Amino acid sequence: MSLRLGLVTDPLFELHAQPGHPERPERLRAARDELAASGLLPAFTPLLPRPASREELLRAHEAPHVDRVAALTAGPPRMLDADTYSNEHTWQAALQAAGGVADLAVAALRGELDRGLALVRPPGHHATPDATMGFCVFNNVAVAARAAQAAALVAAPAGAAPPRVAIVDFDVHHGNGTQDIFAADPSVLFVSLHQYPLWPGTGWYTEAGEGPGRGATLNVPLPPGAGDRAARAAWARLVLPALRRFRPELLLVSAGWDAHWRDPLAQLRYSLTGQAWLCRELALAADELCAGRLVIALEGGYDTEVLAHGVANAARALAGRDEIVDPLGDGGAGQEDAAALLDRVEAFMANDADEP
Ligand SMILES: [Zn+2]
Repeated sequence: MSLRLGLVTDPLFELHAQPGHPERPERLRAARDELAASGLLPAFTPLLPRPASREELLRAHEAPHVDRVAALTAGPPRMLDADTYSNEHTWQAALQAAGGVADLAVAALRGELDRGLALVRPPGHHATPDATMGFCVFNNVAVAARAAQAAALVAAPAGAAPPRVAIVDFDVHHGNGTQDIFAADPSVLFVSLHQYPLWPGTGWYTEAGEGPGRGATLNVPLPPGAGDRAARAAWARLVLPALRRFRPELLLVSAGWDAHWRDPLAQLRYSLTGQAWLCRELALAADELCAGRLVIALEGGYDTEVLAHGVANAARALAGRDEIVDPLGDGGAGQEDAAALLDRVEAFMANDADEP
């Protein structure tokens, strides 16, 4: 089977910059260079990103947020919040990051592509309905999920339910913005594997969604040092069963490589091999559940060598290749025992998650 793979990236994403900030253009450059060096680029069809429309942004964000970002980014370089900077290219880059992921999601759901990889900046998963946060301006994956749903509904009979979209977030930080956007939405399953405790402080397993969305949020708050073994156990015991129960029609991934043992911002201590294994499992789950429809979008990851190899391994997983490249090893990987935590999450999701 020959997969039709789409790649969204653009030099514009490297113009959003602030000297000395960890969320820097070199991240994207390193990833793209490694894709080229490892011969993976020919497998992907490049898609030029286009700016997300205001209508698309407003499916995930409140109007005052969009207006505030537009106003602030029109001025000189500044901080939009404690951690998120802007310069003269930020507005256009943020629009194209959201538009690019949205195009891949729509194309995958329509069957025009099988799978997509979005190497975009600024990242998105901390951006909430009404605020920038944690290096994120617009929530790219959330805009994409809603764009795919809207595109499907255009062709559906009146009153049809939107297609079910699952978002799996394996960035080391909790995807609080994505969780907030979909908390009450039963048509989008949000799953986050992250270090806890860690900034932003949310993502405990009792956060399971609200109202009609109760049970459609799954948080797996892994202890520092948990490492690959915990990720594999969490996948097998919690994440894959949740995906199978939800039966998504499209799978989106918020992919951050900052859970690697060498990342400067966190201590979850995955290896590149563990992260690549997760990407392959996600591809297999997409094959099993939603005709392979899978889009992986870049979030965090602040060691450029880790990010470069991690993205290349993700591209291999999308292309259905078994090879994993891990020149960094496991770093004496942390193996903090997460079994007790997983027991508690499993019991909660089985017994209490649907209770308001
Ligand atoms: Zn992160």
